[in-house]
Amino acid sequence: MITGTGHVLILGGTTEARQLARTLAPRPFLRVTTSLAGRVTQPRMPDGEIRVGGFGGPGPMAAWLSEHRVAAVIDATHPFAAVISANAAEATTAAGVPLVALRRPGWQPGPGDRWHFADSLQDAAARLPALGRRVFLTTGRLGLAAFAGLDALHFLVRSVEPPQPPLPRHTRLLLDRGPYTVEGERELLRTYAADVLVTKDSGGPATAAKLTAARELGCRSSSYAVPLPSPGVRTVPDAAGAVAELERLGCLSRGAADRCP
Ligand code: NAP
Repeated sequence: MITGTGHVLILGGTTEARQLARTLAPRPFLRVTTSLAGRVTQPRMPDGEIRVGGFGGPGPMAAWLSEHRVAAVIDATHPFAAVISANAAEATTAAGVPLVALRRPGWQPGPGDRWHFADSLQDAAARLPALGRRVFLTTGRLGLAAFAGLDALHFLVRSVEPPQPPLPRHTRLLLDRGPYTVEGERELLRTYAADVLVTKDSGGPATAAKLTAARELGCRSSSYAVPLPSPGVRTVPDAAGAVAELERLGCLSRGAADRCP
């Protein structure tokens, strides 16, 4: 039974979150708000309402859910954004609001892939000298200090925002954001003569083109594993699954709005 209004909060910052907002925003009897962390200077804006910035932890998030009469929360954050997901689990439990995790299916190695899985960026960095010399690094702007001591290797670092120093001595920076094509990734890997790719195992098609290009060019890939969603949180693989779950919860019907406190 939905006890709030027909208001859905999407915890966003991903392609899937924008897809979900695009699907839900035109629906009648429904208010859709996407929450962004506010880390990216010029984020791609989702459809519907938007709020920006941290809530201040699970307690204030629970208060926000009650104050804004949220009927359900979809955690569509990046699989590596573990803190906000844990906060969402705690806040929704406290506020008595259903939580659904939208998690992309993980990448699966295919024939010809030479993948090495690491437990952390430090672990990936420790394995790197044995894997290659010219590294295409796409693990995001944070945590690159793990690679800073690898003076014998050359890095092409791609991130949306400038990465946080310290960086490896031989670093070329590429500020860019997806989605990327296989052709573009192939060209990039060739031009840079990369022999190893280091990435987060984020899953989903939006950033998978580099894996195809790396396979074609015979690069090794090193990635570190996806944290699992909080136990007990219902998980769906895509925006369509999230809509189905909201329908099942009764959030998309006129009745949800009529049950406003
Ligand atoms: P995180 O470590 O899990 O969260 C750190 C803090 O940032 C949270 O405690 C929360 O602050 C705030 N926060 C994070 N996501 C938020 C959201 N959607 N709305 C409001 N506040 C949010 O997060 P992160 O790994 O830095 O990622 C930040 C954002 O970037 C996420 O929304 C994620 O979807 C997106 N993103 C992350 C990655 C990645 O590799 N981690 C990649 C692509 C996109 P309070 O405790 O103050 O509420």
